[in-house]
Amino acid sequence: MAEPYDTLLQVQELDTELDQLRHRIEALPERVALAEVRTRRAALAAAMAEVQSQVDDLAGRQAALEAQIAASAKRRHELEERMRSGGVTAARDLQAMDNEVGQLAERQHALEDDELVLLEEEEPLDVALAGHEAEAAALATEEVRLVAAVDAAEVELRAAIAVSEAARAERAAGLPDELAERYERLRSHLGGVGAARLVGDRCDGCHLTLPSVELERMRSLPEDTFATCPQCDRILVH
Ligand SMILES: [Zn+2]
Repeated sequence: MAEPYDTLLQVQELDTELDQLRHRIEALPERVALAEVRTRRAALAAAMAEVQSQVDDLAGRQAALEAQIAASAKRRHELEERMRSGGVTAARDLQAMDNEVGQLAERQHALEDDELVLLEEEEPLDVALAGHEAEAAALATEEVRLVAAVDAAEVELRAAIAVSEAARAERAAGLPDELAERYERLRSHLGGVGAARLVGDRCDGCHLTLPSVELERMRSLPEDTFATCPQCDRILVH
């Protein structure tokens, strides 16, 4: 294989390697996992806010019940005080007050039962909230770990890229301008591969077999002339 085509294929090899390294940075499994953890955390935060609003609602209803219970107890206490004070002597009045005390006691029991129902409703919500909080804490730890893992993998890949880039620049400096420009133009249009080797009767760029007439023509070209694949248009090194 004659120069500068040997060098061109080395540049192509390094460019392919660099493309793969850059792709690996984007597609790091740790980065994918990190995105999943962040999505899960966001969903969890929304679920927690929903449960919390239910808990807050129950707390509001419980506070209202407690205010009613307290008001009822206060009224009952006042009645009992008055009955004990001896200021009310009429039997009918005392009977009426006694009736009211009884009703207030019943009402208080009913309100306390309602409050118990609320507490029972709140129990599974508290359990759910505690579960969500535990999961959120585990996810936060996992996120920190993954951020560090992504950083470490990136540092390693960027170091490899720097080495390959230096090697690529050194090789590419030896290419004639016209060939380098043609290669870059093809590479940008053809998925990163601008130059390919002729392997047997096949182009290693598009993997298609070349017609024998074309192969004959190519073999008759002078050493310093490059061929072009009639199928994919890539620079074909024969
Ligand atoms: Zn081809």
